[in-house]
Amino acid sequence: MLQNIRVVLVGTSHPGNIGGAARAMKNMGLSRLVLVDPAQFPHHEADARASGASDILESAQVVATLEDALVGCNLVMGTSARDRRIPWPLLDPREAGVKAVDHAAQGEEIALVFGREYAGLTNEELQRCHYHVHIPSDPEFSSLNLAAAVQVLAYEARMAWLAADGQASKIEKVEVTSVRSSELATMDEMEKFYEHLQATLVNIGFLDPEKPRHLMARLRRLYGRSAVSRSEMNILRGILTETQKTANGEPYKRKDQ
Ligand code: SAH
Repeated sequence: MLQNIRVVLVGTSHPGNIGGAARAMKNMGLSRLVLVDPAQFPHHEADARASGASDILESAQVVATLEDALVGCNLVMGTSARDRRIPWPLLDPREAGVKAVDHAAQGEEIALVFGREYAGLTNEELQRCHYHVHIPSDPEFSSLNLAAAVQVLAYEARMAWLAADGQASKIEKVEVTSVRSSELATMDEMEKFYEHLQATLVNIGFLDPEKPRHLMARLRRLYGRSAVSRSEMNILRGILTETQKTANGEPYKRKDQ
């Protein structure tokens, strides 16, 4: 179950932190590390800090963008040391651990995303997440070391997993009431949908690219809450295609005519 949870480190500058994160993960039974454009990797400092967790570094996947790191994911949680301008569904690490394990138990793919040491995650990156997770640190000194933040989230995932172990009935119940994970649209499919939606909204004059007013962020938040299935995604894409056709001057024609 824990193998469905990947840890994504974005733009890490210090290789030592990558090693520290790998060790924190291995201690808690997590194994999948994805590195988005790390400044230095592989690196002897990463190996040194990983201690006995070098297998996690060896199997780490290195990719160019956050989008690449999230391919195949159903649920994305982004960690942040501070508040951002657009309010977003917010979890504490305990809630995040429970949610990650609940979804992983249904075969979903989960990503826990961590930001750069100096700048965290960008607003755009945070908007790719379904939830934000904040470790309730002292507001006067709120930013944890990157590997320490990974440790907190990995620990909570483990605690939730230990608590859920042997509670198969609870997991089965969730399964019958929600869309099966194999039917959920993945992050990459959602990204294509957002591109299509944005193009359509510009097309029909609803979105002014000069004055976007956080519209796409708000729509991402809306759809992000909805656990959209593949067949629902096909309906939405179909609506957009027809909207574009009409906006481009094609006359309205019923399918059965
Ligand atoms: N100056 C940056 C701090 C980045 S710390 C900022 O303001 O965002 C590096 C990373 O560690 C963060 O991007 C986040 O992933 C994680 N992190 C640090 N402190 C955290 C906290 N209190 N809650 C959640 N994540 C935290």
